[in-house]
Amino acid sequence: MSQGVRLETELRYVKGIGLAFATRLEKLGLKTVKDLLWHFPSRYEDFSKITNIADLIPGEPATIQGVIHDIKILRSFRKKMFIIQATVVDNTGSIRATWFNQKFLVAMLKKGMVINLAGKISDGKNGLSFSHPSYEIVGFSEDEEQFMEDAAEYREEIESFKHTGRLVPVYPETRGVTSKGLRFLIKPLLDEMERLPETLPEGMLVRAGVAEINDALRKIHFPDTMDDVLYARRRFAFEDIFYLQLVNILERSRLAKENAHACGIDQKWFKELLERLPFELTDGQRKTVDEIVLDLAKPHPMNRLLQGDVGSGKTIVAIMAAIIAAENGLQASFMAPTEILANQHYQTFKKIFGNYEKGVALLTASGAKVFYGEGLESEAKKPEVIKKLAKGEIKIAIGTHALIQKGVEFANLALVVIDEQHRFGVRQRQALAGHKKGDGEYLPHFLSMSATPIPRTLSLTLFGDLDISVIGELPKGRKEIITKIVPPASRTDAYAFIRGQVKKGRQVFVICPRIEKAEEDEDKKNWFAVDTKTVKEEYEKLSKKIFPDMRVAMLHGKLKPAEKDAIMQSMKKGDIDVLVATSVIEVGVDIPNASIMMIEGSDRFGLSQLYQFKGRVGRGEHQSFCLLFTDSSAQTTKDRLEALVGAKNGFELAEKDLQLRGPGEFMGQSQTGLPDLAMRSLHDLKLVKSAREAAEGILGMDPDLTSHPQLKDIVRKFHDKVHLE
Ligand code: ADP
Ligand code: MG
Repeated sequence: MSQGVRLETELRYVKGIGLAFATRLEKLGLKTVKDLLWHFPSRYEDFSKITNIADLIPGEPATIQGVIHDIKILRSFRKKMFIIQATVVDNTGSIRATWFNQKFLVAMLKKGMVINLAGKISDGKNGLSFSHPSYEIVGFSEDEEQFMEDAAEYREEIESFKHTGRLVPVYPETRGVTSKGLRFLIKPLLDEMERLPETLPEGMLVRAGVAEINDALRKIHFPDTMDDVLYARRRFAFEDIFYLQLVNILERSRLAKENAHACGIDQKWFKELLERLPFELTDGQRKTVDEIVLDLAKPHPMNRLLQGDVGSGKTIVAIMAAIIAAENGLQASFMAPTEILANQHYQTFKKIFGNYEKGVALLTASGAKVFYGEGLESEAKKPEVIKKLAKGEIKIAIGTHALIQKGVEFANLALVVIDEQHRFGVRQRQALAGHKKGDGEYLPHFLSMSATPIPRTLSLTLFGDLDISVIGELPKGRKEIITKIVPPASRTDAYAFIRGQVKKGRQVFVICPRIEKAEEDEDKKNWFAVDTKTVKEEYEKLSKKIFPDMRVAMLHGKLKPAEKDAIMQSMKKGDIDVLVATSVIEVGVDIPNASIMMIEGSDRFGLSQLYQFKGRVGRGEHQSFCLLFTDSSAQTTKDRLEALVGAKNGFELAEKDLQLRGPGEFMGQSQTGLPDLAMRSLHDLKLVKSAREAAEGILGMDPDLTSHPQLKDIVRKFHDKVHLE
C-alpha cells in the first residue's frame, strides 16, 4: 500500500481524499481503507458487447461506441436545470445522449472523442436516445494532442479509463459519491498497496478452491470477465460462511459447557397436563414436546428453534414448556413481538389452564395482569408484578419487550421462549441473550419459534448452533384455504360473496397496505401512492357504502394499545363482522371464526408476509378463503401471487420464494447481519459444505482457536455482528 497507508488507516488521511470527501464516504459507512476496499460493486456495466447504433432497440439496455460530433449545455425552461446533450455517431447512424446537471461533462467529453455509452435506450418524439448513460472514454478520433491539452485537467481520468477493463464496476452510491469517484479512489489503492496478508488459514484456499485475498480484491473491483467476478465473490462468500460456521460450532460447544436448571417431569402431572388440553396433540406437536422434555431435563442449556407452519399449534408447545419449568419451582418468560400477540397468549393460557395457581403474569408496555387460578385475576400495577417476578412469586411471565426492560429480573429463570423470532431484530435478540442471567450460575433454556418457514438448506447454515424441531402438519380437520387472485372487474362479486359469508356468521379481515394517505403524497401526487388503499378510506367506504348494515371496525398501529386490545377482544368474541387493518395483524393472531382474508394491493406485500396474512384464516372448522386484490398486471406480480395460490404449505412456498428472490432478499441482511454476498451464496450447497468442513477441520485441531489468534479475533467480531439468538 502506498507509504504508510494500512487497512486501518482512516480515509481522511489518505492522499487525495481530504476531509470533505471523507465525510461523504462516511455516509456510505466507509471510514477506513479496509471499508473502502470491501465496498464491493453491486453490478458491472458490460462495455464488451458493442451494438451498432442502427440496431438499437427501444427499452433495451445496450452499449455503443462512437465519435462525439457535438456536445452542448442546454437549460431547461422552467427548472433551473442543466441538460448536457451530446450526439454520437458510428458507421451505422447517430444517437443523442442526455445527462442532467452534470456540467463537468462538457469539460471532459470533447468533440472528436471516441466514447462508449451504456444504458437503456429510450424512444422519444425526437427518436431514440440515451438518458443518463454510463460512459467510457476510449480514445480520440483526430488530433489527439490538442484534446489531451484541453483535457489536461482530466488527463489522469482519461488515462485510467483507457486502461479500464471492459467490465466497469458500479457501486452502491450515495449523494456526492459516484461510482466513478469510487473507482478513482480504489484503483490507485489497489495498484500501490503492498500485498495484504491472507486472512484464511494456509491450505484452506486450495482445498476449498477459492481465490487468494489480493487476487479476489482486484478481481471483484476490476474484473476482465464475469467469471472473474464469480471467482472473487465466491471467495468472500466462502470466508463469511466459514466464519459463521466457526461461530455456530463454537457457540454450540460453549453452551454445552454452561449450566442450566435440569427440569424433569413427573409422569403423573404430565399426563394430567395432557388431559387438560382441549384437543389431541398432532404427531409433530408430540414429537416436539418430547424433544423439549428431553432437553429441559439436561443440566445444560437447551438452544432450540421450533419451526412450524402458521396455525400448526406452536403456542401450546411453548406453554407446556413453560409449565414444566414452573412445576420444577422455577420461572419461564414467554416473549412475543406485539401486545396483541402477548395478550392472546395470555388469554390462551387462561382458557386452557384456568385453574393454574402458580402465578401467570402478562407484562407489556401498557400494563400488567396476573392470575392465580379461577377468579383470581387482577389488573396489577407493573411495579408490583415486577417485584413478584424478582421474588419468584410469579412463575410464568408472558409479555412483549417489556420483559427485557431494565429493572425486570427473575428469581430463578429456567426458560426463555420467543415467539415469531424473526420479528425481533438482531439487537433485540442480543438483549435477550444478555437477559440470560438466571440466578447467576445458571443460564436459562432457550426456545425460539418461527412461523416463517426457513428452508432446510438455509436453516442449517444460519442456525447451525441451534437444534431444530419441526411441526410438519396442521391439526386435523382443517380445510385447505381457497385462495383466489381477484382482478378489479370482480370486486363487486367479491363483496357479494363476503356478504353471504357474514350472513352465515363468519368474520372477515380486510388488509390495506397503509393507514392513511401521507401528506406528501397529496402535495407531490406521488404516482405510486395515488391508488394505494388505506385503512381509513376503506373503513369509511365499507362501513358507510358497501356494508352499512354490518359491524365494521378498524385496527392499525396508531391506535393506543388499550384500543387495539379492545378491538381484538371484540373480534375474538364475534362482535365485529369486518375488521379493516394494516399489517399489525400479520403475525400470530388466532381467530378461528374468521374465514375470509381479503388483501388490498396484494402486490405490495412480500410473499412470506402474504402467507402470514393467509394464515390468519383457516384456523377453525369452516371453509376459509383468501382473496388477493390487485390492480397490477405485471408478470412478476402474477408469478408471486400464483406461487401463493399454489403453495401447499409454508415450507414449499419458502423454497419457491427463495428461488424467485434469492436468499439475500428472502431473509435480508438486516435480519441476519450476514453480509450480502454470503447471504446470496447460501443456496450454493457445495460452498456451504466446504466452509462447514473447513470450520470443523480447524476446530478439530484447535478447539479454542488458541493457535489462530488472528482468526479468533475475527470470529469474535463476527459473532457480535451476526449472532442470531
Ligand atoms: P401457530 O403455530 O401459528 O402459532 P397457534 O398456536 O396459534 O398456531 O394455533 C392455531 C390454532 O390451532 C389455535 O386456535 C389452537 O388452539 C389450535 N390448535 C393447536 N393445536 C391443535 C391441535 N392439536 N388440534 C386442534 N387444534 C389445535
Ligand atoms: Mg403463533
